[in-house]
Amino acid sequence: MTAVLAAASRDIEQFDQYVMGTYARFPLVLERGLGSRVWSNEGKEYLDFVAGIATCTLGHAHPRMVQAVTEQIQKLHHVSNLYYLAPQGDLAQWLVENSCADKVFFCNSGAEANEAALKLARKYAHTVHGISEPVVLTAMASFHGRTIATITATGQPKYQKDFSPLLGGFDYIPYNDPEALVAAVGQYQGRLAAIMLEPLQGEGGVRPGDRAYFQKVRELCDQHGALLIFDEVQVGMGRSGKLWGYENLGVQPDIFTSAKGLGGGIPIGAMLCRKNCDVFGPGDHASTFGGNPFACAVALAVCQTLVTENLIANARERGQQLRDGLRVIAEQVPLEIEEVRGWGLIQGLVLPESSSIQSRDVVKAAMDRGLLLVPAGPKVVRFVPPLVVTATEIERAVAIVGDVFTELCR
Ligand SMILES: *Cc1c(COP(=O)(O)O)cnc(C)c1O
Repeated sequence: MTAVLAAASRDIEQFDQYVMGTYARFPLVLERGLGSRVWSNEGKEYLDFVAGIATCTLGHAHPRMVQAVTEQIQKLHHVSNLYYLAPQGDLAQWLVENSCADKVFFCNSGAEANEAALKLARKYAHTVHGISEPVVLTAMASFHGRTIATITATGQPKYQKDFSPLLGGFDYIPYNDPEALVAAVGQYQGRLAAIMLEPLQGEGGVRPGDRAYFQKVRELCDQHGALLIFDEVQVGMGRSGKLWGYENLGVQPDIFTSAKGLGGGIPIGAMLCRKNCDVFGPGDHASTFGGNPFACAVALAVCQTLVTENLIANARERGQQLRDGLRVIAEQVPLEIEEVRGWGLIQGLVLPESSSIQSRDVVKAAMDRGLLLVPAGPKVVRFVPPLVVTATEIERAVAIVGDVFTELCR
């Protein structure tokens, strides 16, 4: 045992010596996974309710993913976008046939997908409306990525601090607030290119969009010729209990982005739009790796498995079970837990502002008991298990959360 522990801390020491310290990592080295479980290099088993941060749609080592990865790597993995690629065409067709979009651009991450959306919206404003200084409105407490454009779009100062000057052409509105929305749209009349929102704010605290608010957003965009962009990077791909988060709001975007869950953990991003705003021509945008046959074949296998294994219904049912279970615990503990909120298999347990307990404390205590969770801000504990999670696994996770609060409240 001591030899194993020594090996574990040696891994961490070596890692910290050579890898930049951009993450506040937990002292845990994960080695392998299967379904909704992962194992550390000390052989300890964990229930994985992080799933690579809402990414491992099919969990770990899913046979369909293993098959797609193996077949495509043996056939053709990368040749560039100088040529036509069948897997890219197949994936684009699946996405278009299963969404409100007509066209797709592929890249490798959420931030890149949002960059593409912002470039498209700016070009649309310039070429269709003749706006020389277009403005994009985004929400406070949003998260859109870590590039310079996407930290500018992200309405949270903590991601922007030390990286000024940010880009021009952005302003921020409070989320789910129709009055502030109307005021901002009025303020930027004649310059408004787009409004970009998450259907449910993930990093900002698992905050679902309000139906009436989003309907108002759609209406104002139509009135002013502005594009509505949805960032579906975290909530899309079935996690919300519907394929796309916007289906929970009864509103369709002009442009939306996908990434995290799209490749089931293989890096891929996509920006999708309707015909009328497809103003990109050759040379306007590009990505060397974007949409390569490897990533696209795996993502298509993930998409098809959502259907063949009925995983969107599973996200809905298991999500309900998780929320109900957490709500029972919330009532039992002496802590005044604010609420449990979310859609499908993205749920947030909101700790009281007044309590000294932070989301990180809950995450640490759960990890000690064999359950991996991830904070969404200092006061929200986020639950984003793979879409293949079973009823027994949800039951087990809820029981562990119960034990964690009993311990933390002692
Ligand atoms: C994670 C996330 C991003 C950024 O995705 P990366 O792949 O890390 O660049 C953008 N938007 C939302 C809503 C996200 O959750």
